Amino acid sequence: MNKPHIVILGAGYGGLMTTIKLQKSLGTNEAKITLVNKNDYHYQTTWLHENAAGTLHHDRTRIPLRDIIKMNRVNFVQDTVVSIKPEEKLVKLETTTLNYDVLVVGLGFEPATFGIPGLEEHAFTIDNIDSARMLRQHLAYNFSLYHNEKEKKSARLNIVIGGGGFTGVEFVGELANRIPELCEEYDIEKSLVRIINIEGSPTVLPGFEPQLVEYAMNSLESRGIEFITGAMLKECKPKSIVYEKDNKLEEIPTMTTVWTAGVRANEIVEHSGLETNRGKVEVRDDMRAPDYDDVFVIGDCALIIDSNTGRSYPPTAQTAVRQSSIVARNVKAFIRDEKLEAFKPKKLGTVASLGNNDAIGVVFNNQKIFGWKATVMKKIIDNRYLFKLGGFGLLLKKGKFNIFY
Ligand SMILES: Cc1cc2nc3c(=O)[nH]c(=O)nc-3n(C[C@H](O)[C@H](O)[C@H](O)COP(=O)(O)OP(=O)(O)OC[C@H]3O[C@@H](n4cnc5c(N)ncnc54)[C@H](O)[C@@H]3O)c2cc1C
Repeated sequence: MNKPHIVILGAGYGGLMTTIKLQKSLGTNEAKITLVNKNDYHYQTTWLHENAAGTLHHDRTRIPLRDIIKMNRVNFVQDTVVSIKPEEKLVKLETTTLNYDVLVVGLGFEPATFGIPGLEEHAFTIDNIDSARMLRQHLAYNFSLYHNEKEKKSARLNIVIGGGGFTGVEFVGELANRIPELCEEYDIEKSLVRIINIEGSPTVLPGFEPQLVEYAMNSLESRGIEFITGAMLKECKPKSIVYEKDNKLEEIPTMTTVWTAGVRANEIVEHSGLETNRGKVEVRDDMRAPDYDDVFVIGDCALIIDSNTGRSYPPTAQTAVRQSSIVARNVKAFIRDEKLEAFKPKKLGTVASLGNNDAIGVVFNNQKIFGWKATVMKKIIDNRYLFKLGGFGLLLKKGKFNIFY
């Protein structure tokens, strides 16, 4: 291959870490590296719920790409991917077309609303900086309007979160911290505010040990969060939501519905002509698409099935980062005509925050942790990622050092 062109789509956890590893390990004349991303910054998706609640400013979450990639080594293209044409080895962007010799697809996830009426039009989602910032401002706007209207509308102070999975629970944890501040700022009696989490399963945080789920629910309920479990959200209207529980329809007035209960791989992948399963590319063990030797897929766009359970490994930032080591090594091996390695998926520990000073998790050898230990662990995980991404400089700039509170 004559100075091959490596094109990486998406500067999320998977795409960006792959780029950084390739910029370090490939000689300047060995390959041309192009990174394509919508924005000129990377954002920590795992912190977006904090931005959305207003407990962390979004500038802490976004990291300018020029601070972490060598712009003289990597050709950065700020543009939006429109489609991928693997048969023609090209990618269409909004303003241009790129040809590639090797492609890495790391376009992440997008919300899935499963056709529930009104969700797309009226619900908020937490999936990028813009959506998180809009939600934070919407919350403050409704609080500010409450006393400025003749007729007091409870819908302005009712916040409904659809989905009691990881994102939904982490978000209500942040709200539990943020709402008292908003109440003070806008002279609103705290008891007037309702934060209601609606979950279809009998319990929130499916997949976590019952003991940890109980701890999480008790902690959040004691801070005013209401849980309605075993209930399906049926419709989202501009000023209310309808859910079904025990075969009965109920309606809650609200102007803030936040949908956290469904994500899917970026839709571009499904329309790319790459073979997909549930909207994702079920990658070979070397992280390549099944039908194209020159296309690697990473992070939330890739599907890996656990052969023991027949279920897919959950898409997480940690997995995307682990995969980036193998993808970078294999891209290098591919252009050097060397043997490719297999990615060995493994179940990683998980820590879910319940606000700034509480958390639950399972770490190391299935050890359960909660309270301050889990909070410290969560911050260590966050800081470790920043260190991997941009060394001490980035860690000092963006790290979370309020370890014990
Ligand atoms: C609120 C929240 C909390 C979470 N907490 C955790 C956690 O604690 N731990 C954990 O492991 N996981 C967590 N996750 C899941 C984790 O964030 C994802 O699994 C992870 O971001 C996937 O990484 P990725 O590299 O596949 O894609 P992403 O990190 O989503 O990056 C995709 C990139 O592609 C860009 N992009 C998308 N479309 C286009 C386009 N058309 N053109 C150009 N660029 C495009 C995006 O701007 C983005 O930069 C959380 C998710 C959310 C939403």
